[in-house]
Amino acid sequence: MRNSFTMALRFYNTLTQQLEEFSPARDNTVRMYTCGPTVYDFAHIGNFRTFTFVDLLRKCLRANQFRLDHVMNITDVDDKIIRNAVAQHKSIEEYTSVYTEAFLADCDALRLERPERLAPATAHIDDMVEAIEKLSAGNHTYSSDGSTYFRIGTFPEYGKLSHNDFSGNMAGARVDVDEYEKADARDFALWKAPKEGEPAWQTPLGPGRPGWHIECSVMAIKYLGETLDLHAGGVDLIFPHHENEIAQSESLTGKPFARFWLHAEFLMVEGQKMSKSLGNYYTLRDLFAKGYTPEAIRYLLASVPYRKQLNFTFDGLKSAAVAIERLRNFKLRLETDRYPEGDDDQLAIREAAASQKFSESLNDDLNTAEALAAVFEYVREANSAMDAGAFRAGNVAPALEFLRQFDSIFDVLAPTVQTNQILDSEIESLIEARTAAKKAKNFARADQIREQLLEAGIILEDTKTGVRWKRK
Ligand SMILES: [Zn+2]
Repeated sequence: MRNSFTMALRFYNTLTQQLEEFSPARDNTVRMYTCGPTVYDFAHIGNFRTFTFVDLLRKCLRANQFRLDHVMNITDVDDKIIRNAVAQHKSIEEYTSVYTEAFLADCDALRLERPERLAPATAHIDDMVEAIEKLSAGNHTYSSDGSTYFRIGTFPEYGKLSHNDFSGNMAGARVDVDEYEKADARDFALWKAPKEGEPAWQTPLGPGRPGWHIECSVMAIKYLGETLDLHAGGVDLIFPHHENEIAQSESLTGKPFARFWLHAEFLMVEGQKMSKSLGNYYTLRDLFAKGYTPEAIRYLLASVPYRKQLNFTFDGLKSAAVAIERLRNFKLRLETDRYPEGDDDQLAIREAAASQKFSESLNDDLNTAEALAAVFEYVREANSAMDAGAFRAGNVAPALEFLRQFDSIFDVLAPTVQTNQILDSEIESLIEARTAAKKAKNFARADQIREQLLEAGIILEDTKTGVRWKRK
C-alpha cells in the first residue's frame, strides 16, 4: 500500500494561535479527547460538522502512521436532560438511552469511526466526586446552597485558550456580587444541588449532579493521562467549556492539560445561523427523509476545511451527490473498460503528483478543499485521456490506488444500503413526548413532533384509546 503522507503534519493550535508540527509525545500513540454529544435530543447537522471533522482527523492521523487512543464523552446528565426526563416521568437513563442510541446510529450512517472509548458521564460520577474533593483540598472551590463551585480566582492562567484577558475582572471589579450565589460571575459549578423533585446522586459532596465541565477533565485524565496530545471540539466550546476544563485539570495535576487544541468552526444553513425558529434546523434524519444520502451529507460536511465556516445549502448537497457520482463513474470506468497495454508516462507522473498533493493538503491543517481539488483535477485529466485513447492498462492500478487513498479519508464511494431510518423505539418515544407536550398545552411543540415524524414517513392517528402510528 502506498503511503504518501511523508510531509510533516501541521495543525493550527488554538492555544498558541499558530500552525505547529504535530506528533504524539509518547510511543507513537495520539492520546486525544473530543467533546461528545449531550443526549437530550437528536444531534443536528451543526453537531455533525464537528463530529465529521473529528473522523477526518482520526483518519489523517492514522494515515500518518500514528496509533490512536481517543476518548469521547457522552453527556447523559445535565439540566435539560433532567427537566425533560422529569416532565416525561422517566428516569435519566430511560430518557437518554433513546438519544444515545440514535446518535450512534447517526454516526454509523455517516461512517464516523467509533473512538477507542466512549465514556458516559453517569458511569463516572465517583471519579468526578473524587476530583472535586481533591480540588476542594487544594482550596480551588467553595460551597453555596449545597452546590460546589470552582473559584476561578485561584487559577491565574484562566483565559489562556480563548485569549481573553480576565485580569481586570479578577482584581475585584465584580459587580453586584450579592446577586449571585457565585462569588464571581465566571465561577462555575462543579457539583449542582438538586432542585425540588429532581433526581440526584447521593455522594460525600451532598445530593446532586456533576456540572458539565468536570466530566471532560475527569474522563480525559482517567483514560489518557495528565497531558493529552490533542483535544478537539467546536469553536463554541472554547469559552467557557474548554477554558474551564483547563482550569480544573491543571489545578488537579499541575501539568499542562493538552498540547494541541483544535476547534471546528460553525455551520450556517443557507447563509443563516441554524435555529428552530427560522425553520432551518436539521437533524440527519430530516435530511434522510428528504431523500439525501449519508454520503452526500458526509461529503458536504467534509469538503470545507474545518477552520472555515461551512454554509450548508441544499444546492451544496446536490453538488456533493454529483461529485460522488463522478468519482464512482470514474472508478467503474477503470474497473470495466479495456485499455491498450503499456503505460502513459505523462499520466503516471500526473497521478503521482496529484496523490502527493492530496496528502500534503490534508497534512496542512486538514485542508480538505485543496485535497479534493487535487483529486478532481486528476480525474478530469484521466477521463480526457480515456476519451482520447491515451489511457493505458498500466495506468489503471495507480489510479485505483489513488481513489483508495482518497476514500480511506473521505469514505463516500460505497453507496449506503437503505434501511428503515427511524427505529420503532424512537417513534414511540417521540409520540410520548408529543402527548406530554399536548398535556402541557404546548401545542406548537406537539405539532412540530407530528411534522418531524411525518417527514420521517410516519403517520399518526389520534384515536380514543391513544395514538396509533404507521409507516407511509
Ligand atoms: Zn468537553
